[in-house]
Amino acid sequence: MRNRAKCKLCGCIIESKNVHDYVECKCGAIAVDGGTDYFKAVANEWENFLRIDDEGNEIPIKVIDKGAQETKQDVKPLDTPLTKEEKLKALDEMIKSYEHLPPHALSQPTTHYDLLSVLLLVKSLLSD
Ligand SMILES: [Zn+2]
Repeated sequence: MRNRAKCKLCGCIIESKNVHDYVECKCGAIAVDGGTDYFKAVANEWENFLRIDDEGNEIPIKVIDKGAQETKQDVKPLDTPLTKEEKLKALDEMIKSYEHLPPHALSQPTTHYDLLSVLLLVKSLLSD
């Protein structure tokens, strides 16, 4: 099969004829590459990308979003505020990690970043 594709936006049909033949459509929304060795497809939006088979038929492609499948249900979105229990737990873990430092590490100076992260945590706990 030839490595051809059609852009839904500009209607342009493009073809990559060999491995190093990177071809973009007129509007730049899609591109093909790799010739018939490997069918590399590029698109800003996959809904604009149509495969063209050797008979000239337009074939919508299926995009498998690996990232979406790996997303776990129990992971909180980043903008969810932590509960007081979670903040206390974070503080507790911070204390524990410092307590378990070897003596030579305990006597190392902390940075202002370290201090700031602790102060922010304490502040958010107190303002609850
Ligand atoms: Zn286009």
